Amino acid sequence: MDFALTEEQRMLQDMARNFAENEIKPYVEEDEKNEHWRKEIFDKMAELGFFGFCIDEKYGGNGMGFLEGALAIEQVAKVHTSWRMAFNMQCWGPALTIQKFGTEEQKEEYIPKFVSGEYVGNFAMTETDVGSDVAAMKCRADDKGDHYLINGNKMWITNGTVADHGLLYVKTDKDAGARGVTCLIIDYNLPGITRQKIHGKVGLLASDTGELTFEDVKVPKNCVLGEVNKGFPICMTQLNSTRLGCSAGSLGLSGAILEASIKYANERSQFGQQIGRHQLIQQQIAEMKMEHEALAYLVYKAAWLKDKGIPNVMETSMSKLFGAKAVVHAANECMKLHGSFGYSDEYPCGRFLRDSKQFETLEGTSNMHTTIVANTALGYSPNRK
Ligand SMILES: Cc1cc2nc3c(=O)[nH]c(=O)nc-3n(C[C@H](O)[C@H](O)[C@H](O)COP(=O)(O)OP(=O)(O)OC[C@H]3O[C@@H](n4cnc5c(N)ncnc54)[C@H](O)[C@@H]3O)c2cc1C
Repeated sequence: MDFALTEEQRMLQDMARNFAENEIKPYVEEDEKNEHWRKEIFDKMAELGFFGFCIDEKYGGNGMGFLEGALAIEQVAKVHTSWRMAFNMQCWGPALTIQKFGTEEQKEEYIPKFVSGEYVGNFAMTETDVGSDVAAMKCRADDKGDHYLINGNKMWITNGTVADHGLLYVKTDKDAGARGVTCLIIDYNLPGITRQKIHGKVGLLASDTGELTFEDVKVPKNCVLGEVNKGFPICMTQLNSTRLGCSAGSLGLSGAILEASIKYANERSQFGQQIGRHQLIQQQIAEMKMEHEALAYLVYKAAWLKDKGIPNVMETSMSKLFGAKAVVHAANECMKLHGSFGYSDEYPCGRFLRDSKQFETLEGTSNMHTTIVANTALGYSPNRK
């Protein structure tokens, strides 16, 4: 077993850290305040090759895999967690899923554009009435001979109002449950699509989130990804990749919280000594540190399994679930440790807490991941790739 990163991985880590410090950090407060998704940051991420992890070089990939992707996401999320979303929306969502399930024509048409940032991407499953029970989705695509006609809604969609193309999961057989779901590559310029930005979220304020409405939207048949009514396994495969993006994001945020807490514990004095010298503060720091390290091992291990092609759904869920617990706990402790200053916008404790809560819901709630881990551990479900 070798815990050391390679020279190339360390260089990537440094590059991602420098990018986040120089290009993202100056805008964090402004973009949080204005709920602004900054296209210039997105374009620079594309230029650096951040959307090419796990993508074949012939489609513009960067020759690196899940572990390197996780390292880059961690560094970006550490500075501004909203930007962890871009990796999933471009790379491990649409591009990688098309690479796995698309025709050669679809691969050549779409993947290079998601990787280069020419297309802003997304993926849409969730609806107003349908979240965890993905197979119950109602947005439907009716077969009209030479095209599909889409009607319905999608809710809480990241890059909802800024995406050019994405993956849209729809029902093509309304009575068939999971066996009636189809994945379409959707062009958001098609007539009949209305998109509205969702304001007032608790966190992820610099990430665009939208509500989409489809009214008699005509989609050509060559936009089906994989086979008709076989979209549910495609969705689960996609989520198993994008969930790692989530875990790596929680690791980045956990690192930011730990650093801020250590800094303040060393700066602030009460009762004639640094607060870090008080045993109860030390307990908080020790717990944060242990949970951060444990999370790192879970994230890197899940990424490593993916890169090796070894079944990893349970390990990915463990990293996602533990990441949510660790980061919410750390953000809560961080605010307490900062006292009243933590409760003001003079320190980033409020943003940490707001951004930590996303990890309990997005890409499968903590309850759903608990179920996946337990069912696999108990032998009720096989572990998958
Ligand atoms: C900022 C943001 C960005 C998002 N981006 C996207 C995106 O890009 N694309 C997309 O498709 N979706 C996206 N989502 C949606 C997100 O993935 C869903 O909200 C999530 O899957 C949960 O669905 P829900 O909110 O409908 O909760 P529900 O499914 O209604 O769950 C409500 C509660 O019930 C619990 N629950 C439900 N079923 C069970 C069960 N069987 N056992 C135990 N407990 C259960 C849940 O754990 C939860 O606590 C986003 C959401 C947010 C907030």
